Amino acid sequence: MSSSNVVSLEPRGLSSRETAAVTLAEQNALFTAALNNMPHGLCMVDGEGRLILCNPAFGAMYRLPEMLTRRGTSRERILEYGFSTGQGPVSGVAEYLARSAEAGPGQSIVGELALADGRTVRISHTPIEGVGYVATHEDITDRVEASAKIEFLAYRDTLTGLPNRTAFQRGFDAAVEAAERQGEMFGVIMIDVDHFKDINDTLGHDAGDALLLNLAKTLSKAFRRGDTVSRLGGDEFAVVLRGLNGPEDLLRPIEVLQGLLRKPVEHSGRSFTISASLGAAIHDDPDADPLHLLKNADVALYEAKSGGRNRCVVFKPAMRTQVEQRVELLREVRLAIAQGEFDLYYQPVVDLVSNKVAGFEALMRWNHPEQGVLPPAAFMAAFEDTDLSLQLGEVAFERALGQMRAWLDEGVEFGRVAVNISSEQFRTGRLASDIADKLRAWNVPAERLAIEVTENVYMGWGADVVAETVCALHATGVQIALDDFGTGYASLANLRQFPVDRLKIDKSFVQNAEDDAIVRAVINLGASMGMKVVAEGVEKPEQLAALSAYGCDQVQGYHFAKPMPAGEVAAFVRGFGGV
Ligand code: C2E
Ligand code: CA
Ligand code: CA
Repeated sequence: MSSSNVVSLEPRGLSSRETAAVTLAEQNALFTAALNNMPHGLCMVDGEGRLILCNPAFGAMYRLPEMLTRRGTSRERILEYGFSTGQGPVSGVAEYLARSAEAGPGQSIVGELALADGRTVRISHTPIEGVGYVATHEDITDRVEASAKIEFLAYRDTLTGLPNRTAFQRGFDAAVEAAERQGEMFGVIMIDVDHFKDINDTLGHDAGDALLLNLAKTLSKAFRRGDTVSRLGGDEFAVVLRGLNGPEDLLRPIEVLQGLLRKPVEHSGRSFTISASLGAAIHDDPDADPLHLLKNADVALYEAKSGGRNRCVVFKPAMRTQVEQRVELLREVRLAIAQGEFDLYYQPVVDLVSNKVAGFEALMRWNHPEQGVLPPAAFMAAFEDTDLSLQLGEVAFERALGQMRAWLDEGVEFGRVAVNISSEQFRTGRLASDIADKLRAWNVPAERLAIEVTENVYMGWGADVVAETVCALHATGVQIALDDFGTGYASLANLRQFPVDRLKIDKSFVQNAEDDAIVRAVINLGASMGMKVVAEGVEKPEQLAALSAYGCDQVQGYHFAKPMPAGEVAAFVRGFGGV
């Protein structure tokens, strides 16, 4: 209001009655001006709940027709109007009415209404002795949104919009409390994307982000609304599942999730499958400490990853000691590599058409100072450890190539030597050039070497690097064998994507008469795709006879020889008289 509009309250030589009337009129004008210009809505209501007065901001706030802003309008009518137009409050009314009914004169209470259009209104309500009440209505939408944003930033992961680590911890703490107080059963699942770092390194951060977003969506689909599905950071996700009735309530969503993960994901025209490792733990023993659940789930996740990834493991108490043993084993292997205790044994592969030794498979052995010669089963964990598998791979190539050079010099007809490759070796992206360098260094022709890879290296987001590596190796003349065929998830589509020279039928099929049909199918498949088929684990003459009848190209197994030290190879080749 400008100063010229200010009505003077000073008497101006009028009679006292006239003065009183003028003063009242002036005061009224002042109050009206104040009411009309205040940003908040204001209403005064009598003891019967009827409007005494309200200001324009009040009418505007609730979009009331002029008629409903008049004196005498009941509060109910105003509310009804809001409901009938669908613009009224959607929550907070009942609570506000109840609390305001209890407030005594002079006692202010505050209520909050959520309106249908998303606005939030805060009401300050003050009863007035003998009148009713006066209330101001303030639109606090901006403030609510700002604090929601702050909440979002503090408790949400910005990439996926999922609860973050802080929110996860809050959800976990709440579950622990409910378990301690009411004996509630709950579970935790830790999820880790396999080889995420390689995906980022080789396909770029966009692909990495797309994968994480996709996984976040998949996780939200697999679990209930009430489960806290969170991203802990990087490629780690975790879920808290509350109010479980039994282990099956934990296992069911895991199965759903694994099913969803098998579906390929499209990203910039390529199709991938996300492979993830899951560790789960359930608090179902009232005597156990629920606080340990996070640690247990972590141990289970560790088990899942070291068991070859792409799997789910549910925690069992025995795992604690297993994990400790594994850590101890890896420490020993590290030492043993440094001491040169690892060596290769060689098992002959026999060609059924030429009836000759076609080559040897190089198999790792540990010459343990106390326990003697140990097979890979005793140190499998080392092949799955990122660092050690690379070191063992290095040992295998150095030994195999050194040995091949020696045999070439001695004129031993060893054919082709197949070296097993762990998936970790592929992930480096350098495998092809490393092998080429080593072949050159030892002066061994590429035609003397084969590599054996299992199907699971061909799967997942690293598949591009694997394809490049395999193609590069194949182009130089190194043969590619697909190992343990039939035990993994590799599809025919995978087979066609990469050059594969040999299919190795897993020994479990060869040795099980019931799998006869599978063996025949694989042999036919290999023939139709121009690959040689090798059967492993041939122990009995009848197995050999059947394989031979089905047209299997090559065989390997104890029937001919167990893996032998390099020193016995020359004599074996010389003495081999055929099948
Ligand atoms: P694999 O590649 O499937 O190797 C075949 C395994 O079957 C070998 O076990 C071999 O000794 C065994 N075997 C061969 N013929 C018969 C048979 O007639 N009957 C039976 N019961 N078994 C037979 P081994 O040497 O213990 O190797 C086990 C696994 O360890 C290999 O399976 C391979 O996956 C892995 N491995 C071995 N050496 C290396 C290596 O240098 N690098 C990598 N990454 N993995 C290796
Ligand atoms: Ca093999
Ligand atoms: Ca095999």
